Amino acid sequence: MKKLILLLTITLAFNCKNDNESKINKKLNVVTTTSMITDLVRNIGGDSINVQGLMGSGVDPHLYKASEGDVSKLVDADIIFYNGLHLEGKLVEVFEKMSGGEKTPVALADELNKKLLIGSEYFASNYDPHVWFNIEFFKKFTEKVTIILCEKDPKNAETFRANEKRYLADLDNLQEDVKGVVAALSPEKRILVTAHDAFNYFGKAYGFEVVGLQGLSTATEAGVQDVQKLAAFIIDKNIKAIFVESSVPKRTIEALKAAVNAKGHKVEIGGTLFSDALGTAGTPEGTYLGMYRYNIKTIVSALQ
Ligand SMILES: [Zn+2]
Repeated sequence: MKKLILLLTITLAFNCKNDNESKINKKLNVVTTTSMITDLVRNIGGDSINVQGLMGSGVDPHLYKASEGDVSKLVDADIIFYNGLHLEGKLVEVFEKMSGGEKTPVALADELNKKLLIGSEYFASNYDPHVWFNIEFFKKFTEKVTIILCEKDPKNAETFRANEKRYLADLDNLQEDVKGVVAALSPEKRILVTAHDAFNYFGKAYGFEVVGLQGLSTATEAGVQDVQKLAAFIIDKNIKAIFVESSVPKRTIEALKAAVNAKGHKVEIGGTLFSDALGTAGTPEGTYLGMYRYNIKTIVSALQ
């Protein structure tokens, strides 16, 4: 990481593009971190901006390290939108290096009322960073992205605001749909066991008890004791299904299933949820709206 920061510093120092004329006419270059944020920024910016997402489908932000290719994207960026709250643990140092100059790094979670966040001792921020699973919070992200884009590119402000209005309406519809699907699942069946604790905000919003095998970050591996303890919990609560996540290796959840089965209790793997990354671009799950609908259907049909 040190080498990369040095490379970044050198590249920034030598990258003296003083072509003001091209600046006026050129599209804003926006760099984003997670695929949820990339999708959001594309929805608001449309064809009026260039968006480059650092983390694709299936990429785990907790463990993500910037590559040299990312550095060149960051050097050309006018704005960097990221989650914050130490979700992108290893990138924070790189972003901090960039603030104060012409670039605008924006930690979207800074917009949220801290009193509404779920605390966590695990993260240096002291908060659980998986805030996008609260749709109200994702609306706040939407508003902030729009404000920043309008500030940096006033000539397209009308377009950005129109896109914001449409997207906020889509998020309202999503909320209604999710409530409808969840209502079909009786409250005692609302227990969500996944690979890591990404779903606490989702659980709080829709009445699910959430248990992650690896805790809040994937940076710590689950031990044998964690597996045995959670296996006992699953048997005790008579849970029908547990879930794999697309950005976390399957083996821990498979070990958990084996531990439950070894005790003579049947538990299924209810499907793969999208937690810290969206699905493949071009598929419905490759968007935030599609990902949320897919997750909730998968959860409810497996636990019913
Ligand atoms: Zn996570």
